[in-house]
Amino acid sequence: MLTSIMRYSDPFMMLKASTYRREIKLNDLERNIVLKEGFIRLAESSLASIDSLNDPHHCHRDTPHHGVVPKAQHATATCCRKCLFNWHRIPRYRELNEHEKAYVLHLILRWVKKETYARQNIGVVIENGDV
Ligand SMILES: [Zn+2]
Repeated sequence: MLTSIMRYSDPFMMLKASTYRREIKLNDLERNIVLKEGFIRLAESSLASIDSLNDPHHCHRDTPHHGVVPKAQHATATCCRKCLFNWHRIPRYRELNEHEKAYVLHLILRWVKKETYARQNIGVVIENGDV
């Protein structure tokens, strides 16, 4: 599994190729929710969404397009098993293993962190999506 996931050294560089995914942004309300509730709560919400990916009938449209975690999933192509396969080469027709769940969680949290802090005027400079 590690080799298929590690196909791209930085998935965020690959995701930049998608106009659809590149244009997904958190709004001010969503950023404030993250700042108020914190990343532990965000990780808990993310894990619940990641578990739903084990449902073989879960498709792209089952992941909403509003809310912090769903937006992060669409932006990182972790919204459904088809996108996980097409973008990250994670096989579709079996449950995610612990390594794959951790990988998806990492992508979601990294994207939210970038979205939350990159556009705040607090003197933080983030380049090339590297957070
Ligand atoms: Zn999808």
